[in-house]
Amino acid sequence: SDKRPYIGRFAPSPTGSLHLGSLYTALASFLDAKAQQGLWLLRIDDLDTPRNAAGSVDSILKTLDALALQWDSSVYFQSDNLDVYHDVLAILQRDKRIYPCTCSRKTIAANLTENASIDVVYPNTCRNNRFPCSAPHALRIKTDGRVISFDDRLQGVVSHHLATQHGDFILKRKDHIIAYQFAVVIDDDRQGVNHVVRGMDLLDSTPKQIYVQQVLGLNTPNYLHVPIITDDKGFKLSKQTGAQSVELKTPTQVIFKLLDLLKQHPPAELYNAPTTELINWAIAHWDPSVLKNSRAIALKI
Ligand code: GLU
Ligand code: ZN
Repeated sequence: SDKRPYIGRFAPSPTGSLHLGSLYTALASFLDAKAQQGLWLLRIDDLDTPRNAAGSVDSILKTLDALALQWDSSVYFQSDNLDVYHDVLAILQRDKRIYPCTCSRKTIAANLTENASIDVVYPNTCRNNRFPCSAPHALRIKTDGRVISFDDRLQGVVSHHLATQHGDFILKRKDHIIAYQFAVVIDDDRQGVNHVVRGMDLLDSTPKQIYVQQVLGLNTPNYLHVPIITDDKGFKLSKQTGAQSVELKTPTQVIFKLLDLLKQHPPAELYNAPTTELINWAIAHWDPSVLKNSRAIALKI
């Protein structure tokens, strides 16, 4: 139904080198875009400055390059766009959609002990706080009783009750950092992104992002959440769990392995082919439907 050209993106956080888990979502979003003659944009999610690691942007670009995952247009850095987030926050403040929250993690946790088994949802304690607020504060968006639903291409229909499953959530942190849930909406809109392909770990964040889109009158992209890659103990691969970086001297073998994990059945005779040849095969044969309802895939080492 969407007749606009496909615009997808990969949005790594520059917290280290790409590993097999992050490259899995990179390749899936790349193939999905290219199989539909789309653009594949690269965004560096670098707002959470304490987590940024020196040298990782370079390393990310080098890795994508080595694997022949060629992005379109110039690289978009969130940190180049701080004014934009603040301009939108000013509008939301004018429209009384956000409020200053002075709670500490501690007070929130104390108020929640009775319901400790329930997913931690902020109890909207500060909703009646007004601007200006001189105490250190986060900015939260007011939520309401609506249900947010979307039809994920792999995971099916997801429906969340905004107030009870999310509550008023943070758009700007107390340490002044723009929250991911807010930035991602602004950036996807500014980049014209209409297809988001990313890992299952973000599935439950999507209703928050759709709510922000609705409040701002922005389009909601089409979503496809691929399974996450886990180690043999079932933990998501990440730097913390010691995910090894990939061997860039044999890029075709890395793509082959990733295609295998994407259940695309790459032909054995391409195992030693030039990387672009294997990539072209993968674009021509891309079929994500084989991953339907798959939430996690264990890496066999
Ligand atoms: N930077 C986010 C991450 O690495 C991805 C954001 C997204 O794809 O929406 O988890
Ligand atoms: Zn509060």
